[in-house]
Amino acid sequence: MSRPDLLQRLAARHAERGRHALLRRLRTVQAVQGPRVVVDGRVLLNFASNDYLGLAQHPALVEALVAAAGRWGVGATAAHLLGGHRDEHAALEEELAAWTGRERALLFSTGYLANLGVLGALLQAGDLCVQDKWNHACLLDGARLAGAELRRYPHADVAAARRQLGALPDAAAVLATDAVFSMDGDLAPLPALAALCREQGAVLHVDDAHGLGVLGPGGAGSVCAAGLTQDEVPVLMATLGKALGVAGAFVAGSAALIEGLVQFARSHVFTTAMPPALAAATRAAVRIARFEDWRRDQLARLITHFRHGAQARGIALLPSPTPIQPVVVGDSARALAVARRLEADGFYVPAIRPPTVPAGRARLRVTLSAQHAEAQLEALLDALAAALAHED
Ligand SMILES: *Cc1c(COP(=O)(O)O)cnc(C)c1O
Repeated sequence: MSRPDLLQRLAARHAERGRHALLRRLRTVQAVQGPRVVVDGRVLLNFASNDYLGLAQHPALVEALVAAAGRWGVGATAAHLLGGHRDEHAALEEELAAWTGRERALLFSTGYLANLGVLGALLQAGDLCVQDKWNHACLLDGARLAGAELRRYPHADVAAARRQLGALPDAAAVLATDAVFSMDGDLAPLPALAALCREQGAVLHVDDAHGLGVLGPGGAGSVCAAGLTQDEVPVLMATLGKALGVAGAFVAGSAALIEGLVQFARSHVFTTAMPPALAAATRAAVRIARFEDWRRDQLARLITHFRHGAQARGIALLPSPTPIQPVVVGDSARALAVARRLEADGFYVPAIRPPTVPAGRARLRVTLSAQHAEAQLEALLDALAAALAHED
């Protein structure tokens, strides 16, 4: 018998990562206070959080959570279809649909599950799923799990996407894209993709994990910012764990889409509903995200400030208009060394390396939050310039 030992193989892959400066390390955060975290007993300014509007510790969310836990307890105790769907969930779904200008919305326990669920409900073997190469892992996994033919076009290349759709004109097709690319912060060409999907008879599925709360009027997201209707973007997915500061996700679209998902989205049907208290906290988050424009204004000011400051110091940034402001350094070992220096100086900025980003494109992924102050950005930029010069 020559059966491979899987645990040994895993250990070998682990060792291989280590040799290439690609090993991930779980860090335990001991405390969080606004933009500060305590890691290994040291206070660090946090530039790694997706809490763009500063809502995760907002007292209104905490109060809503505690009050709802008093009413409901902690767990939902069952899947949505089996008694886990509480009026807190139903109200949140209505509010999310209204916010994003869609007919209906359906909650999922995470964004990862939402994308697996939608793509699995829509696609079958023999169908086509065309995706941007830089899409989030869960969109890729969703297409693979559905058994569809997955074609990935070069980043933001609408002409390449057209060729891929055109090559299989008889296949039912979904075109799926991140709206804001999570490791680069740039925006997908949504209007051109919507026009392409209309021309090709494909369903456009937009993942707005990083756009909801941040972009568009009232923070309604990238699709609203682009002025695209439910007909143009039939499948809108967004998460609740980023700008909204909670956890979970939803898909919004027509009543027919949502009814179909309730039947066929396996990650909705066969999983425990999100705790109702989280739904209550999310409702509080939606109210703040929708109506407190000053948080988005502050974020926009910080983004501009950071970009100007980087330019003044000769730090090259990517063309990102969002709070995701990566600094590409290329080599993985160098990215790690810069991250370590920043940490020694009191800043938490993670190094993002392959396979999360393409080979030779390792980077420091800086994320900004409305909670940061301009002086904190200045301090980070000074430390960043020094660390980059040192590790040249
Ligand atoms: C974070 C993210 C997800 C996953 O959402 P979770 O709720 O964290 O599972 C999906 N898509 C994109 C683009 C993301 O950035």
